[in-house]
Amino acid sequence: LFITFEGIDGAGKSTHLASVADRLRRAGRDVVQTREPGGTALAESLRELLLQRPMDPLTEALLVFAARRDHLREVIVPALQSGRTVLCDRFTDATFAYQGAGRGFDLGVLAQLERWVQEGRQPDLTVWFRVPPEVAARRLAEARAPDRFEQQPLEFFQRVDAGYARRAEADPGRFVIIDGQGEREEVAARLAEALEARGL
Ligand code: ATP
Ligand code: C5P
Repeated sequence: LFITFEGIDGAGKSTHLASVADRLRRAGRDVVQTREPGGTALAESLRELLLQRPMDPLTEALLVFAARRDHLREVIVPALQSGRTVLCDRFTDATFAYQGAGRGFDLGVLAQLERWVQEGRQPDLTVWFRVPPEVAARRLAEARAPDRFEQQPLEFFQRVDAGYARRAEADPGRFVIIDGQGEREEVAARLAEALEARGL
């Protein structure tokens, strides 16, 4: 089973991914926790470049998909083939939301890269933590110094949010949309309910 966690920066993905991983392990599943961009030595190196330096949008899209290809071949596909449950912090929906909707990169080119790199493989389930950009920004301001993507204006994250909404509309069976506002425990309870409804 391949489950991805999505949302704008500060939506709470990483916090809740860790608690879902614990819960599934207690239920006897063999869980792999990973993230994008990253998840292998090569992809983590590409992540550092992506987060540190400004670059042209096509270069950025190619690096994100290069990292994804390595991650799929080295970690995700082998884990799924041996029956493990993979929980991944961000995947291709983030590319459509950030590089596509956020930065205005050609969605047709992204769709083509998606086909080449993934060869039809998609997550079984995608949990999208939806939080208004103002709320997410407030959380991050309290938590840590921003990386280059997080230094974007609020309108950028509004476009990213709209990008996620389009992906969810195009593939409603795959998406679980969780209202990420409120206390951590409230969000965790909403998530647990939604996952239980899917037998998880
Ligand atoms: P990023 O993509 O930037 O890594 P994220 O979506 O993974 O963000 P987290 O790192 O899980 O988000 O959370 C961002 C910050 O908000 C953290 O400081 C976390 O403790 C806090 N946080 C997470 N969930 C909530 C919540 N429901 N209410 C308040 N704060 C929260
Ligand atoms: O989710 P995480 O905090 O690990 O992401 C690191 C940064 O990379 C975030 O600021 C996110 O906005 C950015 N990112 C991106 N395009 C992607 C994936 C992540 O701009 N496809």
